Amino acid sequence: MKFLFTLTALSLAALGANAADFPVKDKIITIVVPFSAGGPTDRVARDLAEALRKPLGGVSVVVDNAAGAGGSIGANKVAKAAPDGYTVLLHHIGMSTMPTLVRNIPFKVESDFEYLGMINDVPMTLIAKPSMPANNFKELTAWLGQNKGKVNLGNAGIGSASHLCGLLFQNALQNEMTTVPYKGTAPAMTDLIGGQIDLMCDQTTNTSTQIEAKKVKAFAVTTSKRLSTPALKDLPTLDESGLKNFQVTIWHGLYAPKGTPADVTTKLNDALKAALKDPEFIKKQEGLGAVVVTDKRMEPAEHKKFVAAEIAKWSPVIKAAGVYAE
Ligand code: ASP
Repeated sequence: MKFLFTLTALSLAALGANAADFPVKDKIITIVVPFSAGGPTDRVARDLAEALRKPLGGVSVVVDNAAGAGGSIGANKVAKAAPDGYTVLLHHIGMSTMPTLVRNIPFKVESDFEYLGMINDVPMTLIAKPSMPANNFKELTAWLGQNKGKVNLGNAGIGSASHLCGLLFQNALQNEMTTVPYKGTAPAMTDLIGGQIDLMCDQTTNTSTQIEAKKVKAFAVTTSKRLSTPALKDLPTLDESGLKNFQVTIWHGLYAPKGTPADVTTKLNDALKAALKDPEFIKKQEGLGAVVVTDKRMEPAEHKKFVAAEIAKWSPVIKAAGVYAE
């Protein structure tokens, strides 16, 4: 695999794919999303693809949904891609929780990627099927207690954000549920709306429109404070609902394969920083409850430091809760 990878890089050089020319106008930049189309990570990627086009000189930026295995298939695809800047990964908190939640991932988060900067922070929400009889968090916990062993909890596969949140939720309630894995929370949302599954914890970038349209029932947010987004402002936090210190915030970052030339990663980072200041992008993200990064985490070195800090933060929590998967 390594040999092939080097060959790809060499043949690109032979074809004259010079880092100084990056990005070549008639080439396409692909953002790999490790979850299904129409879900929250995909939503961030599609908005970002649009915002990146101008700062990258009008080049086409497309999204490739390489979904499955809780986000590790897409991440692995980019880890093994040609390091030429034309394939990048948009991933979330899974980059820091997957190494503990899933023990055998086929890539190394710390050493297989060039970090390009962070994008946003996104709260999660606890939502249920529309026919859920409970109308508030207290009634929900009572219903979950009465239905022990019968509750289906959807997620985007082992290692995903919804997996992490669902595991922490089951652990906090000491109530084991049947988890139903999907390739992303877009198909899980369809089944939740249809009543095939009972419950899900997912990013507001997927849930706020469905909550507003009353297609699902919402019970709480996972942040330490209530949100100001109109559709979500009446939701209590899990902490105030009795699950003390329950706090999960999802963040997204951009990555290139290790070995991507520095002048290419600098151009990608510059374009990302321009996109993060694009009023249209900010407006779309804020409307979905996401907060676009304005701090130093938009710099690659700080992004890398943040991911390392998140690994250090989550690893003991996951281990202490005993919620990791084989
Ligand atoms: N929200 C998903 C997760 O739980 C991912 C997705 O479908 O975007 O990780």
